[in-house]
Amino acid sequence: MFNSIQQKLYRGRHREAFRLRSSKYYLRLKTEMVRLFGGKCTQCGISDIRVLCLHHKNGGGNLDREVKNGHVASTTFYRRILDGKREIKDLELLCMNCHSILHSKLPVNSGTITS
Ligand SMILES: [Zn+2]
Repeated sequence: MFNSIQQKLYRGRHREAFRLRSSKYYLRLKTEMVRLFGGKCTQCGISDIRVLCLHHKNGGGNLDREVKNGHVASTTFYRRILDGKREIKDLELLCMNCHSILHSKLPVNSGTITS
């Protein structure tokens, strides 16, 4: 059994392998999550997984996000959804543009620059 110092040293020596493994894991989870929610933004229809995210219709998104080492860990959130441990009726699949527009405090007609 490793102690925490040994674990840090091991992870440091195998940093690239851990990074690659975790990015593949993230992609697999996000792909499953996007499929579960219909595969596209409910507002504009874009299906590029890189820009899709979950909107909390009733707010409280920060409560679902776990912060690990200063980074937000979406994997835990997605895992809970895919394992059926979290209800999904308050969630909606949006792209980041539609999500930003939805949360914008600016008036609707302030968003287009014409000249
Ligand atoms: Zn959209």
